[in-house]
Amino acid sequence: MEGIILKGIGGFYYVKTEQGIIECKARGKFRYDSLKPMVGDKVTIEIDKSNKGYIVKIHERSSELIRPTVANVTQAYVVFAIKNPDINFDLLNRFLVLCEYNHIHAKVCLNKVDLCSEEEKTEIKEKINSIGYDVCFINAKKHIMLESLKEGLAGNVTVLCGPSGAGKSTLINALSESIHMETGEISEKIGRGKHTTRHSELIEINEGFLVDTPGFSTLTMDFIDKDQLKFAFPEFEEYYDKCKFRGCNHYKEPNCAVKKAVEEGKINKSRYDFYIRTFEELLNGRNAKW
Ligand code: GDP
Ligand code: ZN
Repeated sequence: MEGIILKGIGGFYYVKTEQGIIECKARGKFRYDSLKPMVGDKVTIEIDKSNKGYIVKIHERSSELIRPTVANVTQAYVVFAIKNPDINFDLLNRFLVLCEYNHIHAKVCLNKVDLCSEEEKTEIKEKINSIGYDVCFINAKKHIMLESLKEGLAGNVTVLCGPSGAGKSTLINALSESIHMETGEISEKIGRGKHTTRHSELIEINEGFLVDTPGFSTLTMDFIDKDQLKFAFPEFEEYYDKCKFRGCNHYKEPNCAVKKAVEEGKINKSRYDFYIRTFEELLNGRNAKW
């Protein structure tokens, strides 16, 4: 039988299958640390004669996040407050780059719309649209304007990320509130004793899964290969094969199509400047931790 791991606790994995959620152990080699199943893994399980479930195969992962530890995340809602605190665009860019680098589709969600005017909204929307990302405005606290986010969960494994204070916990609660959670039944059954570490789990909402803990709390980028950084900027993509040098990093190389596009106003200059600052940090091995 095939399924997806919603939750792992104390050596047991809770696998959602066509026949409901099945408690499984990992078999043989999957007990070794390096091969351990992760929440989000797509797995093949077998049920033995005494009705016990075993994970016998872990399917190839499309992505692996470490904090929280989740496999196969397809989408991130990057949550920032419009105000209180104000948007830090460098930080927003960092989140976007990390999503792209992990092959996770990013959607920018601007929370606390109740705190700003229509003009401010328009200005910020244009700024973010110009770097190639969709924006959606929400009021997580009052559960307003969450429809498109709910719809967007379908068919995806979604993680929320963003700075602290942006409203991620409020949004997770708001999105999951109206839902009858099958996973809730498991939590009740095993309980969350004092000594149980809090692991992430997937909450099923609207034919998709939401990771119940916010992601990307540490924003170090030093694991990024400087020659790969450029691929995390989707707006550079159409110029890749127009630069004179193959593998151009759009830095000091002559006849660079990306630099030309920046000069012509086709690529947002502040994004390009951010790219260069990050590139230089990686080049000099002095990557700032956020
Ligand atoms: P997190 O650190 O990203 O998880 O943020 P929280 O969910 O803990 O929210 C931080 C603060 O922002 C809390 O005091 C929330 O009540 C508040 N907050 C969340 N959503 C909204 C909103 O839509 N409008 C306003 N005004 N405050 C909000
Ligand atoms: Zn170039």
